Amino acid sequence: MKKFIPSQIFVEKEALNYSLTYEILKKAENLNIPIIEDSFNKKTKNLSEQEFFAYSKRTIILGISKNKKLDSCKPSADFQFSLVSGCPGTCEYCYLQTKHAASPHIKIFVNINEILDNIQGYIDESKPNITTFELASTSDPISVEHLTGSVARTVEFFSKQEFGKLRLVTKFSNIDSLLNVNHNKKTKIRFSINTDYIIKTYEHNTDNLQERLDAAAKIFKADYDTGFIIAPIFIYDGWKKDYEDMLINLYNKLDGFSNSNLTFELIQYRFTLKSKDIILKRFPKTKLDLNEETRLKKWGPYGYYKYVYPKEISSEIKQYFYDKIKQYFPNSTIEYFT
Ligand code: SF4
Repeated sequence: MKKFIPSQIFVEKEALNYSLTYEILKKAENLNIPIIEDSFNKKTKNLSEQEFFAYSKRTIILGISKNKKLDSCKPSADFQFSLVSGCPGTCEYCYLQTKHAASPHIKIFVNINEILDNIQGYIDESKPNITTFELASTSDPISVEHLTGSVARTVEFFSKQEFGKLRLVTKFSNIDSLLNVNHNKKTKIRFSINTDYIIKTYEHNTDNLQERLDAAAKIFKADYDTGFIIAPIFIYDGWKKDYEDMLINLYNKLDGFSNSNLTFELIQYRFTLKSKDIILKRFPKTKLDLNEETRLKKWGPYGYYKYVYPKEISSEIKQYFYDKIKQYFPNSTIEYFT
């Protein structure tokens, strides 16, 4: 897929004090992307829900992050922070549908030095323990890396940290600018993968499986710690064969190299009633199974009940993936199944 080019950019007043704003505006000028001088709220106030969503997903807003108190990010890392919020992808099940329900646009935080200074404080406070940070919990920052360069700068920042490590995950293949960065094994890059059927049906405007696997192979060969998040895992006719094909495909891309540092994270499909409501408004023809009657209700960490597969099905999924991953990647580690 071609790299994402927004249809318009808005600039918040406070962003004008940061050099990254001007670097991005220069690229925007070369790409003929219009810079809108009106406020985003004014511009979008008369749009329907679907028009607003479509417009927002094509919009970048340059702003700053004032968030100094970081949220924890279990089980993936100690803390999470963001260089970007939102994402140009339109995955129907994306949990950002709920988290960013009123603001599905892509916001780029241009005060990157302040953000990294704050991270330094967290690392220093926990010395000599290693503190890990997740970069992709409220966005997919790789999707706009060609415009920001922020992930590469952050990888370099972490390469110099004795007591800090970075993790990020992506559904995009826009990683070439990271290949020659001196990462010093302090950054782990994971690729979110799924079957061709799931990607085509639900993960609109993201890179396809082959593109993600090609990118993963490059990252792996550039000696980054590399991992895979298989998520969300769906049950459908032929799911076992499709997921096995995906693992064989991955095995072939990595030239059959089984690396003990390769990791897998497994997340079964889930939804909340709030997300169901938003998904049905934004994707009225969705094929997602949102029937809570056939699901197990569980209390989630974000203050909502979530609906997951019933126990016997989730046990079958777990056993299936543990067996298959062991078969194709015997030295890998499965970090969790949830
Ligand atoms: S790529 Fe990730 S962050 Fe973007 S819409 Fe899809 S699931 Fe959400």
